[in-house]
Amino acid sequence: MILYNSNNRNDRVTLKEAVLQGSSNDGGLYLPTKIERFSKEEIENFRTLSFTEIATEVALKMLDGAIEPARVEEMVNESLPFSPTIVELQDGLSILELFNGPTLAFKDYGANFMASLLSHFSKEEERKITVLVATSGDTGSAVAHALHLKEGIRVIVLYPSGRVSTIQEQQLTTLGGNITAVEVSGSFDHCQALVKEAFRDQELRKRVDITSANSINIARLLPQSFYYFYGYSRLNNRERGTIFSVPSGNLGNLTAGVVAMKMGLPIERFIAANNINNTFSHYIRSGRFTPKEAQQTISNAMDVGDPNNFPRLKLLFNESYSSIVSKIWSGSYSDTQVKAAMRELLAKEGYLLDPHGAVGYLAIEEYKKRVGYDNNHNYILLESAHPAKFADIVEEATGVKVDIPQRLQREMERKRDSVKIEGRYSELVEIIEG
Ligand SMILES: *Cc1c(COP(=O)(O)O)cnc(C)c1O
Repeated sequence: MILYNSNNRNDRVTLKEAVLQGSSNDGGLYLPTKIERFSKEEIENFRTLSFTEIATEVALKMLDGAIEPARVEEMVNESLPFSPTIVELQDGLSILELFNGPTLAFKDYGANFMASLLSHFSKEEERKITVLVATSGDTGSAVAHALHLKEGIRVIVLYPSGRVSTIQEQQLTTLGGNITAVEVSGSFDHCQALVKEAFRDQELRKRVDITSANSINIARLLPQSFYYFYGYSRLNNRERGTIFSVPSGNLGNLTAGVVAMKMGLPIERFIAANNINNTFSHYIRSGRFTPKEAQQTISNAMDVGDPNNFPRLKLLFNESYSSIVSKIWSGSYSDTQVKAAMRELLAKEGYLLDPHGAVGYLAIEEYKKRVGYDNNHNYILLESAHPAKFADIVEEATGVKVDIPQRLQREMERKRDSVKIEGRYSELVEIIEG
């Protein structure tokens, strides 16, 4: 598998280099030079396979010999012991629940598989790696859980003070061991800017081997294609057109869906659902990409003003705006609408969404109204987090008290430990070198 740099097509690296570096020195993102395709028959055959089996097939095709097949199979088995579930509701709507991993959000898929790839490659190289990750809530906990106590790996997670939910903060700050949680007085964008500065700091990089675990690392992105194949394989009417609704922030999940489509999965359209942080939705509607300061919402994992996978997404469509809008529709929704949507689906179907999934649901509803609903499509909504992760908001919106899963309850009892910083770069360097 050979990858190229989004800033310079002639800059090529192996999978190992891409995973260990995170992004290129000039800030470019890595993309596969070639995307292998499945035949229609191969995809039809996924119907009878388990999630792990499908994930293995997709990984083998994707990695294209970069790691020996027996090892790839082992890595899928060890890193993804959980599976998505699909819940079929009425009017062609299915919910693909992606919250069955350890931190109850879809990011467990990317984080766990990346952890396997990282430890595989760092062992091969006998290198000690420091993983830097900025989080608006879910990424940090998924990455920290995935890499907790992994040999040769240290994790530094930066999160915005006061802007993550209680459960998220608990998940970030109670692991200890090789995990350091850094509480930054500032926004998520500020945390991300600090991490980017560290990657540009060539002096620092000479002294410490750092890599990124944000979705700029290709290892996070690739495994997110697995569940698109799985969701499709579980549909009863596969001859209908299939539309995926993706609650979107940094666009990692959406980009992974586009990769699945390029691998041959028959996806008719994507609906990219934004909260009021609608940089992408604005782009789809106007053709102009104008990053903005992120605003706080109740779907906080999507509070991103400058989505970092945008260059990748464009390149997957050969930078053609018309190709992009022929495949991707987008809408954006306020917190008030999100709460109403949670109540609506609960009343209509008895299904309880989390705030992120609710943004995706609103987008499907608007798409049907605007583009026309012909009763002849499959709509798959990616439910990106368990409602228990946002229990307070869910209860306030719907009156339903969410049962907290046991593993979360145990986590709620552990003691927090974090390092507080004002947000200066020098403070971060001190932690990295400490
Ligand atoms: C991260 C996250 C998103 C947004 O996904 P992107 O890949 O950043 O677009 C949506 N929902 C939840 C629950 C998340 O944690």
